[in-house]
Amino acid sequence: MVVDDPKELLFLCALQNAVKHGGVPQAGAVIGMVMGAHPELRSRAKEVSGLAKEAIADVAALSPDERIAMLKTRAPEMYASLSEKHEHKKVLPDLEKSEKGVVMRFAPNPSGPLHIGHARAAALNDAYVKQYGGRYILRIEDTDPKRVDPEAYEMVREDISWLGLGITETVTQSDRFSLYYDLCMQLIERGGAYVCTCDNEHFRELKQAKTACPCRDLPVATNLERWQKMLDHEFKEGEASVRIRTDLDNPDPAMRDFPAFRILDAPPHPKVKAHVYPLMNFSVVADDHLLGVTHVIRGKDHIANTRRQKYIYDHFGWQVPVYRHYGRMGIEGVVLSTSQMRLGINEGTYTGWDDIRLGTLRALARRGICPEAVKNAMLAIGIGDTDISFSWDNLYAENRKIVDPVANRYFFVPDPITVTIEGAAPHTAHAMLHPGDTARGTRTLEFDGSVLLPKSEISPGTSMVRLKDLFNVKIVWDGNIPSFSYGGDSLAEARAVKAPIIQWLPAQAAVPCTLLTQEGEMKGVCEPLVGAELDRVVQFERIGFARIDSVDASGIRAYFTHK
Ligand code: GLU
Repeated sequence: MVVDDPKELLFLCALQNAVKHGGVPQAGAVIGMVMGAHPELRSRAKEVSGLAKEAIADVAALSPDERIAMLKTRAPEMYASLSEKHEHKKVLPDLEKSEKGVVMRFAPNPSGPLHIGHARAAALNDAYVKQYGGRYILRIEDTDPKRVDPEAYEMVREDISWLGLGITETVTQSDRFSLYYDLCMQLIERGGAYVCTCDNEHFRELKQAKTACPCRDLPVATNLERWQKMLDHEFKEGEASVRIRTDLDNPDPAMRDFPAFRILDAPPHPKVKAHVYPLMNFSVVADDHLLGVTHVIRGKDHIANTRRQKYIYDHFGWQVPVYRHYGRMGIEGVVLSTSQMRLGINEGTYTGWDDIRLGTLRALARRGICPEAVKNAMLAIGIGDTDISFSWDNLYAENRKIVDPVANRYFFVPDPITVTIEGAAPHTAHAMLHPGDTARGTRTLEFDGSVLLPKSEISPGTSMVRLKDLFNVKIVWDGNIPSFSYGGDSLAEARAVKAPIIQWLPAQAAVPCTLLTQEGEMKGVCEPLVGAELDRVVQFERIGFARIDSVDASGIRAYFTHK
């Protein structure tokens, strides 16, 4: 960065900062950048800080597209360094034993649609299968009737197809009960499991005391008989369960002879009529083995399960997959609990599973977040085991990279007021559909006397505004009553007096438009052409990106994506 004039330097740094992070540049960051590159300016800190304020105000007055265009022309090398860093993809760490390809799986419970929390396992496993080649199994884990919503099977399938995972096969655990029963019998024969008929509370006390229960040492033949009785409904719920023989001295009581099968008397399972149900540690190991899974990537909350599961592998003498456990990911700002979502939907608080206050993938889709952005954000988070909080800003930055080059630009005027502008001849504004892609052409807005302006932009004290791509408007105030007149065409003049550049629409050609945000509705008007963008993401200039959700006689409804 070879720039002599501190003013220009600050302006460019503020510009780069704004292009990189969006929004208003932070004074501290801008000054730090300048001082870092030019330590000789440190002795002029006060002056620099004053100039920084001015530079930041100048940058803040520009639209995101103008900022990019200006940075590209005035400091191409600063722009280039930005995109190099932006395009730098974080590479996932290598997985051991992956030389011959991998078999991995994504194993959601069909208790509701997939949410942003699921996306991490889904995307990481997907990326590794792509990296090493192999199979990617979708396994629907529906062995716990309490965690099954009949509608979720279809929703999970839809969500996966939206995410665009490279799934090579799908299995559903409720189709595989006979396989689990068979393996259970084999495990009992090997002495790796036994049928326990102890009262739960009694077993717990024995377990805490590291003491074997009376069932543990019964002969294999007796255990096999008891197992058959379980299957034959001769035991009722709570009267018998199958336990894995582990280590009663294990310091963690949760590892001691944990259960593998239980009886459920009348579970309302939508897909299977069973009396004996495998518990997840058993069905997961059975399937990981039967399906040839080589690598398991899952959250740290499964570490105890991994330890339990290793006992089952050892009893069978099976090869254990390679495990990686990533850290917890706190997600704020949206509802993620399936039961809370369901309750809210039933009570009418939420409009459905795609209500934008929810953290479901379908809610993100409705807002115009692209599946690639979700996957990229998850890969950037990676498989580290440190606990982190999910950054919406990073997801939005990923999404912006995708939608910014494609989204057409339009005016949206929130909370409009109708204003007549004196002294202005009819004008035709040609506004670019996309400033970075002139080939897309322009949209035409005809001015013929009166316009709709955002109410919030017209406040006492404002003496001039520029209607974007049209002309300047002088405002004279009589107390609280403004009057508006033509103020010339010159953009330079508007800039010189720091006139806000605002959205407008011809009063005779504006369509009612409701912009739905997570915080509530914003009523306004937009260009009629927006009606042709159904289901696409557009950019409402100076407001942000939005997905056009519906278009009908009453107007347009759009969901706010992000700035
Ligand atoms: N179905 C389990 C879950 O969604 C995943 C099981 C696993 O990764 O082993 O938590």
